[in-house]
Amino acid sequence: MIEQWFSLTLEPGPRPALVLDASESAQKIAPFLRGLAEGVLEEMPESSRPRIFFLGNPQAHDPSQFPSNVERWFKDNAGRGSFIGPVFEALEGEADVMIAVAGAGKLFDLPDWRGHPLAERTIWVKVGPVGLTDEVYPEEMYACEQLAQRLNNPLSHVEIGGPGVMPFWWDDSSFRLEDGKLVGKTTTGTLRFGVLTPELHATSAHVVMFNASRRALRLDEGEQVPPADEVRMPHAEFMLLRQCLNKSGFHCPVCKLDHPAGQMRCAANEQLPLFPTLEALPKGGFAIINASGWETRVRPHPSPVLVLSPDTVAVRQATGGAKVLRFDHQAGVWQPLRTIALFEPMEDKRHAMVL
Ligand SMILES: [Zn+2]
Repeated sequence: MIEQWFSLTLEPGPRPALVLDASESAQKIAPFLRGLAEGVLEEMPESSRPRIFFLGNPQAHDPSQFPSNVERWFKDNAGRGSFIGPVFEALEGEADVMIAVAGAGKLFDLPDWRGHPLAERTIWVKVGPVGLTDEVYPEEMYACEQLAQRLNNPLSHVEIGGPGVMPFWWDDSSFRLEDGKLVGKTTTGTLRFGVLTPELHATSAHVVMFNASRRALRLDEGEQVPPADEVRMPHAEFMLLRQCLNKSGFHCPVCKLDHPAGQMRCAANEQLPLFPTLEALPKGGFAIINASGWETRVRPHPSPVLVLSPDTVAVRQATGGAKVLRFDHQAGVWQPLRTIALFEPMEDKRHAMVL
């Protein structure tokens, strides 16, 4: 297997678009539409507030100008008629844009856009008794808060993976391993990660939208991230740990009874950490205990995946412990071999510990 490192730049999706109907058919509901738009803008963080559009007009209006200009905007757009085409054409290049259209009266050109991804993805807001889509698409009534939530598209996520690809290290702990893929909700900043892969170019990254549409993200080759520094383990702690390694339990210096390996404190004195070094390490991954030198050292490995050999990894399980997987080169998949309860011997007098 090849070890490969990547850097992925995550960019927030485009600002959503709120399309208002200022046409004649919606004149009576104009005050309601203004209130709806105002409420939606208030509910959303400034950076993701929707651009305001009007039916028949490809021009985006700056949401920060809404309060002072809304009267004029409605007046200027009153004569344009119920056409969605100009707005869709203006937004066609934005793959992930979320659009809501609020108005009343049939859109004359909607049949031209039927089946187009933009039309399929649009949130159709029912306002008056006469719908926009002639019942081609579901139209619903929304409170400002609900519509703001839908426009914010909170269900989108990022997915990284590929055939035979096993991510083993990443620097954003909000990303999780799900069915062999690295999945996260973060949509801004940079993610660095390392994978084991059967071949170059097998790894890909996508943004997956709430409606399951996908957009590929560009992956850049990144530098290998060096492993975390080892920390020294006090001798007394190692003596207890060594008992755990040898007989899966230890003789407690506090209560003088035996405790199972993995127990960090004694009920007789809960204030006293028996394994202060291990306790202080980040959880959810592993610790590599290195007893090869004259003093014992521990290396934190907070990732839930640990590379044991070029084609073997240990993966933390939600139920505790870890599963050892080996890459089956013929089948091209990772096959489970066995489970690790707490410790796994490694080369050079080292042990991996599930933490
Ligand atoms: Zn005890």
